[in-house]
Amino acid sequence: MTEPVNDVSLLDVEGEPEEAPVAQVPDVNAAAGASLGSCDGNCGWEELHDRIETMLADERYGFAEETLQGISDWVFEHEHATDAQKQAVQNIAASVYD
Ligand SMILES: [Zn+2]
Repeated sequence: MTEPVNDVSLLDVEGEPEEAPVAQVPDVNAAAGASLGSCDGNCGWEELHDRIETMLADERYGFAEETLQGISDWVFEHEHATDAQKQAVQNIAASVYD
């Protein structure tokens, strides 16, 4: 038989609970790997990369900087862009309208 824990200090959790990062575009790059093999060479990754670079230079997209940079890096590294990445960039672009 175990004694009930009455000492509250034993229940203290070390450190602070980490806030889950706001997932604007969850796992876009992770999902991208699956479709790498089916590229027909017309994915337009250079176009997407250019577009992202333009967006990164625009402070209005600062909220999505990490996501954009992550996609940009992946696209450049793999010389490929997936529909999910293009859609993600499109969504971010569409969220800034003024
Ligand atoms: Zn491609």
